[in-house]
Amino acid sequence: MPIPMQPVITMQMRRFSYWESELPPEPLPARELPRRVDILIVGAGFMGRWLAYFLSKRTQPARILVIDRDRFSYGASSRNAGFITCGQVSEMLADVEHAGQDRVIETFMQRREGIAIAREVLPDFHIDPCGSTDYDPVTDDKLALMAKLNEAAGDEIFSVRAARIGQAVRPCIFNNADGAVHPVKLLRVLQGRASGAGFEFGVNAVKVKDGVAELETIGGHHELAYGRAFICTNGFASELDSESRVQPGRGQVIVTSKIHTRTDRTLGYLNAGYDYFRFVDERLLIGGGRDKFKTEQNTRELESTGEVCEYLKQVAAEVIGHTDWQVEHQWAGIMGFVAGEHLGGSPRKRLDDKTEAIAGFGGMGVALTPLYAKQIAAEDWV
Ligand SMILES: Cc1cc2nc3c(=O)[nH]c(=O)nc-3n(C[C@H](O)[C@H](O)[C@H](O)COP(=O)(O)OP(=O)(O)OC[C@H]3O[C@@H](n4cnc5c(N)ncnc54)[C@H](O)[C@@H]3O)c2cc1C
Repeated sequence: MPIPMQPVITMQMRRFSYWESELPPEPLPARELPRRVDILIVGAGFMGRWLAYFLSKRTQPARILVIDRDRFSYGASSRNAGFITCGQVSEMLADVEHAGQDRVIETFMQRREGIAIAREVLPDFHIDPCGSTDYDPVTDDKLALMAKLNEAAGDEIFSVRAARIGQAVRPCIFNNADGAVHPVKLLRVLQGRASGAGFEFGVNAVKVKDGVAELETIGGHHELAYGRAFICTNGFASELDSESRVQPGRGQVIVTSKIHTRTDRTLGYLNAGYDYFRFVDERLLIGGGRDKFKTEQNTRELESTGEVCEYLKQVAAEVIGHTDWQVEHQWAGIMGFVAGEHLGGSPRKRLDDKTEAIAGFGGMGVALTPLYAKQIAAEDWV
């Protein structure tokens, strides 16, 4: 007998992100889980939803089920900054140090491709075409990398121009291809577009291996057979694969009260991309500090911390140019990094003949997940 489904309470208490507060989860209907599906997707973040979308458009009919233990995304997809970006030069120059220039340019091109796919699939979805500004000092090695990136893109994506931040105007590298999205709206639109797939929330996968998934819900244990499974659980990957190379890392964000500022209304990057900001409804959203605080590495705790908040307030004061504002929202999200690095390796890992993990997009998931999903769905493996 199938078990009637209700949400399982595995969540830690958490603060909603700005996006989740605007669009809180809708009530869950009680459902029954099937005993067998063709394709099981574990994790309903961007990766799981893009994959559900592309797999549901394949010509072969398949029974697709997406499960998530949370109502939104316990991980990153509903708690991020919403930059849809192919990258910025200071961060990419830092990446050249450990990953090499070829890898950096390849990833830049993959991000461009992912953004193009998102635009093509969702032409009516609002992407604010604000561009992004890299406020770190412009140096000769950055100009050289910028020229190489423009050459690879066959377009003048990056250029140097004067930009305002707080009280200062300085030369900066501007990226004209970047934009901003509302992450929860994007998640919802994707779920609607993946209409051939079933979505079940409040379902925790405890084991997914060799064609059998063991699931837990508040109604009890449920065993489900699958033809193929994709584990898209990001910073939680090691819970289902003890040898996973994906390491969790916490990102913290604050949003201020409404502000007056003359700072340019583009996306902004400071400190080689570790600190980032954008404007939302006349407020400043700012995140970062991950490089400054050891507490942010290797943790899956969703708690915001006072010391990171204080740091973000200092950076916000520089960005805004005054301190006549308050923090109105504060939250954290969990990212996944392959080998703990920004460009640590492929997020794809085959676990057995029927099971694959796709996890660890770091801070690049908005742009990269559509590309990976499209590529996987085009593979001839069913
Ligand atoms: C603060 C912050 C800011 C960021 N800003 C940006 C940005 O501006 N631009 C950008 O491109 N990227 C950004 N990122 C990164 C981006 O959000 C991620 O790369 C992307 O969301 C990853 O999507 P995902 O689907 O792989 O993982 P997630 O969104 O983390 O989804 C994983 C899902 O798996 C579920 N899950 C986990 N374990 C289980 C289980 N056992 N059973 C069932 N379900 C399970 C979780 O509940 C979760 O919903 C940011 C991240 C953070 C935290």
